[in-house]
Amino acid sequence: MSETSKPKLAIYWAASCGGCDISILALHEKLLDVAANFEIVLWPCVMDFKKSDIEALADGEIAVTLFNGAIRNDENAEWAHLLRRKSQVLVAYGSCAIEGCAPGLANFSDRSQMMRYIFHDAPGTDNPDGIDPQTEVVTEHGDTLTLPAFWNTVRTLNQVVEVDYYLPGCPPEAKWAEAALDAIVAGKLPEKGAVIGLDVTVCDECPRKRSEKKISRFYRPYEIIPDPEICLLDQGLFCAGIATRAGCGALCPLVNRGCEGCYGPNEGVIDGGAKLIAALASVLDAETPEQMDVILDTLPDPAGYFYRFSLAHSVLHRAHLTGKHGTRSVAVLAEAPRLDPKLKD
Ligand code: SF4
Ligand code: SF4
Repeated sequence: MSETSKPKLAIYWAASCGGCDISILALHEKLLDVAANFEIVLWPCVMDFKKSDIEALADGEIAVTLFNGAIRNDENAEWAHLLRRKSQVLVAYGSCAIEGCAPGLANFSDRSQMMRYIFHDAPGTDNPDGIDPQTEVVTEHGDTLTLPAFWNTVRTLNQVVEVDYYLPGCPPEAKWAEAALDAIVAGKLPEKGAVIGLDVTVCDECPRKRSEKKISRFYRPYEIIPDPEICLLDQGLFCAGIATRAGCGALCPLVNRGCEGCYGPNEGVIDGGAKLIAALASVLDAETPEQMDVILDTLPDPAGYFYRFSLAHSVLHRAHLTGKHGTRSVAVLAEAPRLDPKLKD
């Protein structure tokens, strides 16, 4: 196939750690097939491309874009809109693009609080004039330098543009990227809106022995040495496997680590954190809400445990800081799943 007759593939990162790109590199020699089957027109992690190259393409000219990372500033959103316009198929690749993941935890705070800490209060910060970052600066030579505006709220890709498929994981296992690209080459894509992966929970993939659970307290991982054969949750170690979509092969439980929930909730679940709370509540050795509270108090960071990956996509979406001392209350936002593209805050 000549380079120009191949379908075009774009891989992009927005608010991302780069791990999703590494997961694609983990295709190893299969990458040669990707290069044989696709013309890679954008992959900033690996090759140098310019935005103008993508702008010059016709709308819909890119066959598929794998988009990783959350949307947390103007630049992320600009690229999301550009790649949506230029792509026939847009895949939200990885937990950040699908649920907000680690960048989405910033929604427990707000922009002014983060800027205050990073540019004024953080140990090692040297900012004697108390200057805040600017989105536009005119240099002494009269040139204007710009930076993307940092949003108050982190958003998922489908809260900004329409998404065709979801490929979960933090990062996704390379085999799912391979499955998605193979399906595109074979023209066998699933129904639009589908999650590419499995429809069972991590518990279904996990070889540990389970019994009827009655958890009377939780332990931190350093507090006990778990039995390698028995379900971690049965031993009082937090494990999100009971309410998390399978697909990783239960990698963390296999090495004595509780599942953290990075593949997100299973099919049909609107709020992964709420589902996890409900699933755990059903296995606590408690008869009353008060007894339940005592057990849950042994979980040191409930918000982090339950919404580590999904806060930005959850019904809660973000925390609101209220009161003169910054007392936190969490507001339920009755907002549409996709926000007005002009909304930037
Ligand atoms: S989903 Fe995980 S691996 Fe991928 S960019 Fe986000 S934090 Fe990194
Ligand atoms: S260790 Fe976790 S994933 Fe494995 S069976 Fe127990 S709860 Fe499920």
